[in-house]
Amino acid sequence: MQPDYIVVGAGAAGCIVAARLTEDPTVNVLLIEAGGSDRNPIITMPGALPFVYQRRQLQWGFRSGPEPQLGGRTIDEKMGKVLGGSTSINAMIWNRGNPMDFDGWAADGLADWDYAHCLPYFRKLETWEGGADEWRGGDGPM
Ligand SMILES: Cc1cc2nc3c(=O)[nH]c(=O)nc-3n(C[C@H](O)[C@H](O)[C@H](O)COP(=O)(O)OP(=O)(O)OC[C@H]3O[C@@H](n4cnc5c(N)ncnc54)[C@H](O)[C@@H]3O)c2cc1C
Repeated sequence: MQPDYIVVGAGAAGCIVAARLTEDPTVNVLLIEAGGSDRNPIITMPGALPFVYQRRQLQWGFRSGPEPQLGGRTIDEKMGKVLGGSTSINAMIWNRGNPMDFDGWAADGLADWDYAHCLPYFRKLETWEGGADEWRGGDGPM
């Protein structure tokens, strides 16, 4: 079957793009991921995160270059190499940025990035257990 779209990387962005594209049942999407399955107890068990980080089949193991502000030390730069990408190895914290940061970016010239523009997308993304209101979403996928 010939794909209509090829999405490279099945992390946060790739999975969302592929899922949204395939909401149209006539569209064929080929989603390519360098890593393997996310069906692994050390991924589903939050306390096992340190073990995930040691596994090169789940984590790319990148390091920064020498950091001048750290006396030339290099820093561990974690990135998931598995279905779900870094969302499969992350700390599962769900929060939004501070509205003042978004409004600051808008004031610096990114007019569409003010909080008022972004809020509808945050709401669309989530289902809040307390129910939808002007800040929270009620029927999103997260
Ligand atoms: C350790 C850690 C903890 C984090 N904790 C949190 C948290 O608690 N809360 C939060 O909101 N965010 C957290 N994040 C951030 C969040 O997970 C990332 O911002 C998000 O996953 C980035 O999405 P992405 O689609 O850009 O990349 P990723 O989700 O990293 O996806 C990229 C995918 O592309 C694949 N890929 C790369 N190159 C190729 C190639 N050439 N061919 C095929 N596939 C390829 C990778 O294997 C990977 O699966 C954390 C991130 C890390 C690393």
